[in-house]
Amino acid sequence: MKIIPLSAFRDNYIWCIQQPPSSYVAVVDPGDAKPVLNWLEQHDLELIAILITHRHQDHIGGIEKLLKHYPQATVIAPHGDSILGNYRFVKEGDTVEIPLLDLKLQILEMPAHTKGHIAYYGENSLFCGDVLFGCCCGKIFEGTTKQMFQTLNKIKNLPKETLIYCAHEYTLENIEFAKWVEPNNSVLLEREIICKNNELKKIPTVPFTLELELATDPFLRTSEITVKKAVEQFAQKSLDSAEQVFDQLYHWKQTEFN
Ligand SMILES: [Zn+2]
Repeated sequence: MKIIPLSAFRDNYIWCIQQPPSSYVAVVDPGDAKPVLNWLEQHDLELIAILITHRHQDHIGGIEKLLKHYPQATVIAPHGDSILGNYRFVKEGDTVEIPLLDLKLQILEMPAHTKGHIAYYGENSLFCGDVLFGCCCGKIFEGTTKQMFQTLNKIKNLPKETLIYCAHEYTLENIEFAKWVEPNNSVLLEREIICKNNELKKIPTVPFTLELELATDPFLRTSEITVKKAVEQFAQKSLDSAEQVFDQLYHWKQTEFN
């Protein structure tokens, strides 16, 4: 399987899934049709499926234009996110099969960024939209920190070698905050050097492994004593559970970093 990022807007990635030498392609979250159409034309490829993680415009904005060019393409979208269209709506436990790409993906519901947000998991890959980014979780627009904590626990339970394909290039910015929390985390400091190098060479920092994320993303590390202590310092009180640490950590980033 070949998975290629197409840049859109300021920092979005539209992921294109291919199975060479076949010329068929599936795309994830095409907020803009233009980069997808250009790439398909340049490489003489045919779009057969569009996978949507959630209803935000920078993830769905290109669907209708793509369907004008490729009317036979199937659109898969989350059942619980109020998206309108003649699409296939999926929910937790469903499997999406794209035989022409030899691709089978499981649907995992991951509410909190939006209420119906889903992720696609399979082939050692997780397409997680705006739930998790390099070194940070996504913003909570339609849910609670409790829901986001549970959503992230679902990701933490996947195999460590899973490659995470998120929808934005935010890693370096997020590392800045992660260093506030764990200034002495050597894996984090190493990741920063690698990501800075990527930025210079204009190479995406995505995908990354869940293993790396577990070692560096404070939002996945709320059971670690270093994270707990730093967050307690911010909150000026002792915190009894990883979920409480997560709640205060989220609050810390929203109020003092953004
Ligand atoms: Zn979003």
